[in-house]
Amino acid sequence: MNDYDVIVIGAGNAAMAAAVSARDGGARRVLMLEKAPERLRGGNTHYSGGLFRIRYEHPKELLALVPEFEKQVPGFMRSVPAYPKQMFWADLLRVTEGRTDRDLAETLIDRSFDTIHWMHGKGVVMEASVSLSGIRVGDTIKFTPGAVIRAKGEGVGLSRMWFDIAAAHEIEVRYESAATGLIQDVDGRIAGVRVRGPQGLYDLRAGAVVLGCGGFESNPQWRAQYLGRPWDHAKVRGTQFNTGDGLRMAMEVHALAFGQWTGCHSTPINAEAPPFGDRKLTDKTNRLSYPYGILLNRRGTRFYDEGEDFQFYTYAKVGGIVLTQPGGEAYQIFDQKVVHLLEPRYKTSQPIQADTLDALIDKLELDRAQAKETVAQYNKAATNGAFDPTERDGVSTKGLALPKSNWAQKLDQPPYLAYPVTGGITFTFGGVRIDARGQVLNSAWAPIPGLFACGEMVGGIFHFNYPGGTGLVSGAVFGRIAGTSAAQAGG
Ligand SMILES: Cc1cc2nc3c(=O)[nH]c(=O)nc-3n(C[C@H](O)[C@H](O)[C@H](O)COP(=O)(O)OP(=O)(O)OC[C@H]3O[C@@H](n4cnc5c(N)ncnc54)[C@H](O)[C@@H]3O)c2cc1C
Repeated sequence: MNDYDVIVIGAGNAAMAAAVSARDGGARRVLMLEKAPERLRGGNTHYSGGLFRIRYEHPKELLALVPEFEKQVPGFMRSVPAYPKQMFWADLLRVTEGRTDRDLAETLIDRSFDTIHWMHGKGVVMEASVSLSGIRVGDTIKFTPGAVIRAKGEGVGLSRMWFDIAAAHEIEVRYESAATGLIQDVDGRIAGVRVRGPQGLYDLRAGAVVLGCGGFESNPQWRAQYLGRPWDHAKVRGTQFNTGDGLRMAMEVHALAFGQWTGCHSTPINAEAPPFGDRKLTDKTNRLSYPYGILLNRRGTRFYDEGEDFQFYTYAKVGGIVLTQPGGEAYQIFDQKVVHLLEPRYKTSQPIQADTLDALIDKLELDRAQAKETVAQYNKAATNGAFDPTERDGVSTKGLALPKSNWAQKLDQPPYLAYPVTGGITFTFGGVRIDARGQVLNSAWAPIPGLFACGEMVGGIFHFNYPGGTGLVSGAVFGRIAGTSAAQAGG
């Protein structure tokens, strides 16, 4: 006799989608195991901006999710471009350099709208993502295609709403209860979980198990092992509990490793950010307005084309680029022409400020002579053309070995600002291989009976980089699929 029909390991967005869809699919007894204590529950989902990248043929379709759009953002319908399937595909292919797994990507994109709609129907309230993806132009706010809506109350609200929804679906959640291993019957079927709870170790038997317990971003040993130096020193943007347990447990039953194990999502964050995510500050340590300024490392040189693309298509790799600079830090430099474009999140720290560029550089910890030379060369090469933050404006430097391809205005309006940044890790890309039912494959490419996975644990979708707002949607899409399949297998 099983203790539960379905056990879901983890309590973030993906695990929640799995648990709720398992209940919808007919599983009567569903348990979620959460390693964290209740006050730290919810994984990276709690720390997230709550942004959802979804496809839609016409912005009108978004009214089903946020009926009050026009009230929240006057002129909304005119300022939101369509984001059909082929645009999502083009973005995902471009940022992953063509390496995204075609089957997983098709499912992710195809089911993105429908799944977010399902979450909305369950009680996840949504709103326009003004502060994350809106750019104010005069009286209107222009949105980046695809990344327009988020959970009300961001990740904090999303996580809270999910726990309420789980309770309404009579799903049991056990806190401070880490899964430490999978129980496998002699026929290969996964038959339960070994748990380390407040009272010690015990076993639970279940008809099916869903792994939704994150990547290995919070495990310095694995970061060193798979991502290499200097990732063991990276600050973690979110939860301290995603230490690769689910991946280890899966590998112990010979799951097939899949995707980019040397890759991760990592963003530029305030250099003073704490070593793990702060429950209140959540994603506000992010510093993503670098396309409007320049980046200088400790050698006093630029090291990245800051205007390569919109921040939503570069930020998830720029953290790693910063982290691998000397000392793992850099400065973002801005002048007054763009200060109004800096994300509101910049207000959570004080910049270093001066009335001349030389005086600013004199206050920074870098090779000052080189930095002054770099800035002078940049200003000579920049053009002050028809700057437009809502388009890839092509206003680029002329003649620099390392160009700035868009938004390359001169730094010429004092006072000048410098924000020190480092690279913070968000989540890792390496995972397990799942099939169309969310079932984990073994190293002979055959499904492991009774074992499903979702969220950060699914390998193959993201490589090198990531289009903003895709992690939560991926978790929801594959969580929902895994939960439905687990209910069929274990109910
Ligand atoms: C600061 C920040 C901002 C972000 N902003 C966005 C955004 O706006 N939009 C977006 O799409 N993505 C965003 N992301 C990424 C997104 O949060 C993640 O992709 C997503 O939350 C992952 O969901 P998940 O359920 O797979 O993992 P998580 O939400 O991390 O949940 C993992 C769960 O597993 C638990 N766990 C771990 N090990 C065990 C174990 N052994 N036993 C039991 N439980 C265990 C953890 O405690 C946790 O509850 C952001 C991430 C961060 C950190």
